[in-house]
Amino acid sequence: MKRNRLFQQTRRQLATWFVVVMISIIIICEISLDRTLTRAHQLHLDRELTSTANTIHNGFSNVLDIPGELNLSAIDLLPDLCPYSDRCYETDGFELLPVEVIYKVEYYVRLLDKEGEPIAIAGKRIKSLPIDSSNSQWLDLLDDDGYPYRQTSLELHTKDQEVWGYLQVGRSVEEMREYLGIVRRVLILGFPFAATLIGIGAWWLVGKAMMPIYLSYRQIQQFTADAAHELRTPLAAIRATVESTLMRPTLNEISTRSTLETISRQNQRLSKIVSDLMILSRLDRQLSGWNTFALDELVVLNDLVNDIAEEFAALAIANNLQLRLQNEVAQPLEVVGNSEQLYRMVSNLVINAINYTPAEGTVTIMLKATRSEAAIEVRDTGIGIAKPEQKRIFNRFYRVNSDRSRQTGGSGLGLAIAMAIVQAHKGSIEVISKLGEGSAFIVKLPRLEND
Ligand code: ADP
Repeated sequence: MKRNRLFQQTRRQLATWFVVVMISIIIICEISLDRTLTRAHQLHLDRELTSTANTIHNGFSNVLDIPGELNLSAIDLLPDLCPYSDRCYETDGFELLPVEVIYKVEYYVRLLDKEGEPIAIAGKRIKSLPIDSSNSQWLDLLDDDGYPYRQTSLELHTKDQEVWGYLQVGRSVEEMREYLGIVRRVLILGFPFAATLIGIGAWWLVGKAMMPIYLSYRQIQQFTADAAHELRTPLAAIRATVESTLMRPTLNEISTRSTLETISRQNQRLSKIVSDLMILSRLDRQLSGWNTFALDELVVLNDLVNDIAEEFAALAIANNLQLRLQNEVAQPLEVVGNSEQLYRMVSNLVINAINYTPAEGTVTIMLKATRSEAAIEVRDTGIGIAKPEQKRIFNRFYRVNSDRSRQTGGSGLGLAIAMAIVQAHKGSIEVISKLGEGSAFIVKLPRLEND
């Protein structure tokens, strides 16, 4: 495949598309993951803030009595509540009270009067954090150092339901920002690595997926070349014969007859090749799912082998061979398929057996059966096939000994056709052979279930 430019180009294009699609999917997934994580953290944080703010709000609402003024009970609620002045920020921090969760997670609490002026602060004291007097329910703030905070505001009421002012509760979200930053960094840094792996994987996968197409393309190329070669031989013979005849000054009846006989012979050969090619092409289409043959006939194999034995008896005698029929099945052995094609398949095996068995030899057609399969075996005592050749003889146009095969009229398509017919019938074909001793071709077909 590496040397074929068309396939290399297609492979490159497919791999590029694969990488583009995969990278787009990864980018979409990474953005969604980032958004989902951020949203989930924000929701969790808001829920926590709401719950803390509500607890403090409820505490204050029960003790406040004059709008904008803090009484002792209110000051007792938050132990480090500092009436608002610059001094609140002068202390080196404050003592953490273990019972108060708000101090552990960097919360701050601010109390504002109705006009939005600060009255007191507690918790984490950040001087540079702006005081928002609009009291929006949710707010994201930054201190002077760029650290982020999230804040919620609630309206405070006195015991008599008068508006007292506002409660602002906020906390640092630096921890969340850092965590999301790490996740983002991992996603961004991992991206080139993932893209490289996708690129390598895409190249390998596309190559693997294209391999069967490439092999089939090579087979078609080989097949076309072989077919052209096979057709060229009789055509060249006809041309040479005609030209040599035309070069003679006069034509007598004997030479004319001889020329015509040669032409007729070569014509027959051409017709045989063309009809074999047409059968193969129909079988190929059948195997690719087109219904070129009806495969629903009930074929009784006993009758089929009887007819074949009868048909080839004369040919066997002419070749000084014994043709035997050995039927080991008493009952009619039925398979579902196409009788014409099955007849052609067994005929091809029997013709080969007769052609490749020297005089005085024997060709036996056997019929056997197991519970699920019917087997037709064509045995001969002929020349046999060497082990390495046994795998190749089913290839199109393959002949072990092309000269001998040509003498017998063979073009190397007989076994390829037999194989395609067996495959169309969902069966199998195998050869057992020993050079100089003979061959056995065994065809197994699925049997029609009678019970
Ligand atoms: P061909 O038309 O040349 O016989 P086939 O496809 O039928 O082509 O067979 C392919 C080759 O297999 C033949 O050329 C022959 O060499 C070998 N072959 C097939 N059947 C037999 C057999 N029964 N005994 C020995 N050789 C065989």
